[in-house]
Amino acid sequence: MFAKGSSNADYHLLRADEEQTLCGRIVAPIIIDQPVKSSHLHLTTAAPVDCSLCEGCAALSARVMAGSSSA
Ligand SMILES: [Zn+2]
Repeated sequence: MFAKGSSNADYHLLRADEEQTLCGRIVAPIIIDQPVKSSHLHLTTAAPVDCSLCEGCAALSARVMAGSSSA
């Protein structure tokens, strides 16, 4: 699951509880698998192809994956 705001914004990765992004933003608990104009982050089931991953989430996910490979 991924989190996304408006259609041309970066998307985010979710924490395990799916209530916040890795970079700490609150996510609305709804799934919208289509482009929307909203300032609120919402969930999408597929990684958006028309935008890039948030830098904060990218850095944190790299750290998580490196640290969890043996767990
Ligand atoms: Zn992020």
